[in-house]
Amino acid sequence: MSLQLNGITVTVRDGRTDLIIVDGVDLAVAAGETVALTGPSGSGKSTLLSVAGLLLRPTAGRVTVAGVDVTDLKDRARTRLRGTTIGVVYQAANLLPSLTARQQVEVVAHVNGRLDRTARGRVVELLTRVGLEDRLDARPGELSGGERQRVALARALMMEPTVLLADEPTAALDPARAAEVNALLLEEAGRWGTATLLVTHDGADAAGADREIRLERPASIVV
Ligand code: ADP
Ligand code: MG
Repeated sequence: MSLQLNGITVTVRDGRTDLIIVDGVDLAVAAGETVALTGPSGSGKSTLLSVAGLLLRPTAGRVTVAGVDVTDLKDRARTRLRGTTIGVVYQAANLLPSLTARQQVEVVAHVNGRLDRTARGRVVELLTRVGLEDRLDARPGELSGGERQRVALARALMMEPTVLLADEPTAALDPARAAEVNALLLEEAGRWGTATLLVTHDGADAAGADREIRLERPASIVV
């Protein structure tokens, strides 16, 4: 399994009680598989994605990414692993205002010490695949919301990640644009063989995935 979450529990301290945010979730995503993660607002979807993305250490449970059990890894090793094996797309594209579309994607290779000729070629290939071959030198201010999310998707795929994590990547787009970007995300994820976890509110988006896992709000509060 490319991504494996076992018994993931996240609690946060709230005064004198511990609130359970994620309650013992098990989840596995294989290479090339797309899993939709759904559930009501507050059910812990984004929190679980942060755990899978190695940004948040769970209170309990184990995380395995690309065959590496990261549970006991130190921060530095986790950061290095995250940079090369995990791609993320959020609701906002989070692009750097002064960089062109091409530079947004190149920067990922640069920070991982891999910006060479091959990488530059891959940047153009990715941006072409997401339909931006004529917008390579456009800055975020010159791009539509849908185009910005396409850049974010290309950026997430730049390092050939084992795992692609997307947290409501189309929630800020109009329905037609949202459907296009979602279809593109699923198509590209399939093409590059990533294990994809897609948080979505949208039933149609979820239906495009191979499977759906639904979270409920944890009922219990531990005192
Ligand atoms: P979802 O993405 O499904 O809407 P989240 O993962 O964002 O849910 O949040 C789940 C619940 O946990 C929410 O009620 C949220 O307010 C709460 N929560 C998340 N992070 C924290 C935190 N660091 N401290 C306190 N409460 C938190
Ligand atoms: Mg959320």
